[in-house]
Amino acid sequence: MDDIKTQAHNTVMALTPKVCASINQFSADGFKTRGGRLGSGMGLLLEAMWGYHMNQELENLNSSGNAVEIAWLPDNEYNDFACVFQDRDWFPNNRTGELFRIEAKSMNLSADESKAHFDELKKNFTGNDLLLVLVWKWEELDKQRVYPRIVDSFVGQATIIAELRDALHIARGGSFVDSKKCPDGCDVKTCTHDGEPLNAAGKRERLSGPNSLRPSANVSFAANFGGLIRMLKTNSADARKVFREVRKNNEVAHQYISFIHRNLPSEEKNQYLTNEWRILAQKLGIKSDLEIEELLSQIRSKENYQEMLRELD
Ligand SMILES: [Zn+2]
Repeated sequence: MDDIKTQAHNTVMALTPKVCASINQFSADGFKTRGGRLGSGMGLLLEAMWGYHMNQELENLNSSGNAVEIAWLPDNEYNDFACVFQDRDWFPNNRTGELFRIEAKSMNLSADESKAHFDELKKNFTGNDLLLVLVWKWEELDKQRVYPRIVDSFVGQATIIAELRDALHIARGGSFVDSKKCPDGCDVKTCTHDGEPLNAAGKRERLSGPNSLRPSANVSFAANFGGLIRMLKTNSADARKVFREVRKNNEVAHQYISFIHRNLPSEEKNQYLTNEWRILAQKLGIKSDLEIEELLSQIRSKENYQEMLRELD
């Protein structure tokens, strides 16, 4: 990555917490309501606001030369935003004038299972592209009114999260289509299915997967691939091993896992075996024979516990 890209990358990542705080201020003023609906599209609105509020922050920076801004991608592009040079023309069709792209996702903490999916194929991201995830909930403003509050955010290299996702997909028994032997029997030159994820039952996970592998006459695709929470779940000793290896060896993967787990503690609890929690407790000087919920609560009161989870074999 050249210097300007690295700088813009780091700036966008570093400014995101401040941007979320500014969106929250705006929402508390303008989006207060009685009730507070789920499945309302509010998450999409928060994602869009990230772009606008980030631009305000970038403008305040007023960097000499090489000023950048966030652009909203036109229709039919899988990314949401691009970071572009302020003083140059921008051609989204061939990425001229842009430094990197940002895929934005949001997740409501009160919904049972996140509907948000990060399911774009790894080959479609460049090494510089970012994934942004906003976790939000309806928060009480006064006795009767609530507003949508972003409680936490993650921003990191999209390709690394895609690699983590894909490694765990394979560990769960899933696979990816090889266009040289496409299940639809396509010619290798014209096949559009290369890299499409298939689940453990061999069915397509995305609508764009091979038509011959739809789950059933009524269900056209499985749609579990890339669920922001689900992608981290493991169902066997082998899958847990892959999870632990990736977490240990990759800082960005570790940050994403820590982000999901601190917002969804039950997922974190389930990822590790009771025995592992007790080993960690011992290392932290906590009485390891406590009842599990009490044990977890004491472990989580230690600031570095996620770093130590990372080191578990
Ligand atoms: Zn094909």
